[in-house]
Amino acid sequence: VRVLIVYAHPEPKSFNGAMLRAAVETLAGAGHEVTVSDLYAMEFAAATTRADFTTTADPDYFKYQAEERHAVEHGGFAADIKAEMDKLDAADLLIFLFPIYWFSVPAILKGWVDRVFAMGWAYGGGRYFDQGAFRGKSAMVAMTTGGPAEVFMPDGRFGGLEIVLWPIQHGIFRFCGFDVIEPFVAYSAGRVDDAARAAMLAAWRGRLAEIETAPRLAFHDMDDYYETGRLKPGIEPKTAAQRRRR
Ligand code: FAD
Repeated sequence: VRVLIVYAHPEPKSFNGAMLRAAVETLAGAGHEVTVSDLYAMEFAAATTRADFTTTADPDYFKYQAEERHAVEHGGFAADIKAEMDKLDAADLLIFLFPIYWFSVPAILKGWVDRVFAMGWAYGGGRYFDQGAFRGKSAMVAMTTGGPAEVFMPDGRFGGLEIVLWPIQHGIFRFCGFDVIEPFVAYSAGRVDDAARAAMLAAWRGRLAEIETAPRLAFHDMDDYYETGRLKPGIEPKTAAQRRRR
């Protein structure tokens, strides 16, 4: 398996840094091919600007998705974006490794998605969800948190993990056609003791050792919806984020 780890932590000595080293060692040790995009080390730009393109679709009005479509047709992406697209093209498995920031990914990782998952390449033209551009590839969240596991329970203070991760797992990964592997979460990485951290690292290595057979999350296929985008009657919502209006 060719694995791309997109890593977003500014401190190599952090628990995220330890998880990155464990991942590279475990995956490479099992014979997988590992590539890392260390976004802070790369000083990866997060903002969507005209500098993202060497081509111009409209010099008078900057519309990002229109420039993306134009750049796909004319090979017009800036070198830092093109390099990440090539890594993603070559990967079978994409892992986002990050500390949760405000119920989401750190801005530098969100910027990586904003800039690399270009319209006309990563999605568009009717290619979404099970018919998405990256079908056949898998993706996974590996995340550390400040909050303990209890607050990410369905009745917890932060809301269920599947809801917290919905924008990433459904809105980014599944939207673009990835199969989504169950997330790995190191809860309260900064607050627990060394023994608990060692156990979490061992569990992380264990998850990676079985990555090829890891369970995939269930999502609805395009066929489950009407053209309007609503679930057809008779199709029971099967995700934590979708339900019938009462
Ligand atoms: P660190 O604090 O860097 O590391 C924890 C400990 O692990 C350190 O003591 C380190 O020495 C130790 N360590 C390093 N290597 C090893 C090793 N090999 N073995 C054992 N121990 C090791 N949290 C939430 O729950 N929800 C939020 O919405 C949220 N929003 C945030 C927003 C911002 C802007 C910020 C800055 C933080 C937010 N947090 C939130 C908290 C954040 O997610 C946690 O602080 C983070 O996930 C902890 O991971 P870390 O890698 O930074 O840990």
